[in-house]
Amino acid sequence: MSTKSRETIYGGSVRASAERATEARKEADRLACEAWNARMFGFQGPAQPSPALGDALNAGYKYLEVKCLGCDTHQTVALDIIRRPKTMPIHELERYMRCKDCSEVRGYPYKRSHLVALRLTKISASDPPSTW
Ligand SMILES: [Zn+2]
Repeated sequence: MSTKSRETIYGGSVRASAERATEARKEADRLACEAWNARMFGFQGPAQPSPALGDALNAGYKYLEVKCLGCDTHQTVALDIIRRPKTMPIHELERYMRCKDCSEVRGYPYKRSHLVALRLTKISASDPPSTW
């Protein structure tokens, strides 16, 4: 049997299966992110365990909302520019978050922050910060 006829016979179903796997993975990632958000909103944590960076991105959650414990402001961090392994859990990012304003005021990197939730969009006037 030639490669061509195999492609004709199986090509469609192989592609369909692969597509369904991709969709199922995305759906699972989305649900994991929603579950994590629900825990953060409902109980304010614990942030651990959390979805992986890559899973959040795959589910369309491009931002992480973080609250600075120094100045009490909510900020969004774009997950797609974070230079960390895609397998790193979201909660491990907490210790790398640095508040620009507080660091300037204090003169040293101020890293005390609290993870709030994963977001599809950045904080803006039409999409305000989450309330706890
Ligand atoms: Zn701050």
